[in-house]
Amino acid sequence: MLDINKIREDFPILKRQVNGKPLVYFDNAATSQTPQQVIDVIVDYYSNYNANIHRGVHALSQEATDKYEAARKTIQNHFNAKHAYEIIFTSGTTDSINLIANGFASLLNEKDELIVSALEHHSNIVPWQMLCEKTGATLKVIPMTLEGELDLEAYSNLLSKNTKLVFVNHISNALGTINPIETIIDKAHQVGAAVLIDGAQACPHIKPDVQALDVDFYVTSAHKICGPTGVGMLYGKEEWLKKLPPYQGGGEMIDQVTFEKTTYAGLPHKFEAGTPNICGGIAFGAALDYMNAIGFDNIANYEHELLEYGTRKLLEIEGLKIYGTSKNKTSVISFNLEGIHPYDVGTLLDKMGIAVRTGHHCTQPIMDFYKIPGTVRASFSFYNTKEEIDKLVEGVKKAKLMLS
Ligand code: PMP
Repeated sequence: MLDINKIREDFPILKRQVNGKPLVYFDNAATSQTPQQVIDVIVDYYSNYNANIHRGVHALSQEATDKYEAARKTIQNHFNAKHAYEIIFTSGTTDSINLIANGFASLLNEKDELIVSALEHHSNIVPWQMLCEKTGATLKVIPMTLEGELDLEAYSNLLSKNTKLVFVNHISNALGTINPIETIIDKAHQVGAAVLIDGAQACPHIKPDVQALDVDFYVTSAHKICGPTGVGMLYGKEEWLKKLPPYQGGGEMIDQVTFEKTTYAGLPHKFEAGTPNICGGIAFGAALDYMNAIGFDNIANYEHELLEYGTRKLLEIEGLKIYGTSKNKTSVISFNLEGIHPYDVGTLLDKMGIAVRTGHHCTQPIMDFYKIPGTVRASFSFYNTKEEIDKLVEGVKKAKLMLS
């Protein structure tokens, strides 16, 4: 059992008011809030040991290097990667996906096929379209069902010996669907294709085990998991990371540089050109420590309770439709009120201090599938409460009255 009142004390932002009302923060799928424990780590870094890493002999540089590499180890342990050097620090999920898409440019030709899903965020679509333009490879799409699930039979039919890479999100940001990634990975491996899983929405709720999943690449962003923005990670199996060329050239990623030839550093530095987000990386580790102390089973159970409660209460409102009705979903409720634009609902909720996201959620193909311009998305975190959900429900009722 979680002590929610105690947990809420960790998040200073939850005490603030918005438009004269106590903040109800239900935009967790866009970015999560930051606990004091992580804020303290950020303040400590800039107050006490801010320095560039890896090349300094002085004390501050060594201290910063030790903490940064300790964070890499924390991330390794969290995701159960075999080696710390299989964890590459990036600026986030988008950056991680672009790194892999860039690397595959040298491995593909026009006979090759890539498979994406209908449920993806634009950041797991556009880099691959750019890759296809560069290489002549073909992009195929796993269709979705009305419930917001992937059609696995169609997926099986798309796979062939030409399939080189499959990229699917672990959990959909627009609908909350938990995709059956074990099956997706297994089927891809049967035809010799590699798999990248976009874990941006999964990591706030689930602790993925990359070895048990046998996944080739797993990517995420720290800011969805109580960490800061501008930092994330790419897990890649050693054999793949060795095979792929570097993403960016610069300092840190080299072994020897002459004007005739440059040789590259080993893993993970080969993919980490330039001064990284040092403080961000350290805070990323602290955020995982914070969440692990609460416990992912506790988080998932409590959030599921919030999801069931919120779904039941919202569905009592006549004319409210929820998109994404899979039995396997996390605490995301995407909905619309009949005849009312989601933007108008979101704007009125904001006046009541309630933060939700409105729009296409960077998933235009999903909105096109449902033939809607967007949804209102309320996404719950472990620091939210049923009382806050009651405020949302009251707010939506008021919005409906005002906008009908
Ligand atoms: N994929 C999914 C499923 C997401 O929800 C997001 C963030 N909304 C991203 C990718 C992109 O993450 P970032 O903006 O942190 O790079």
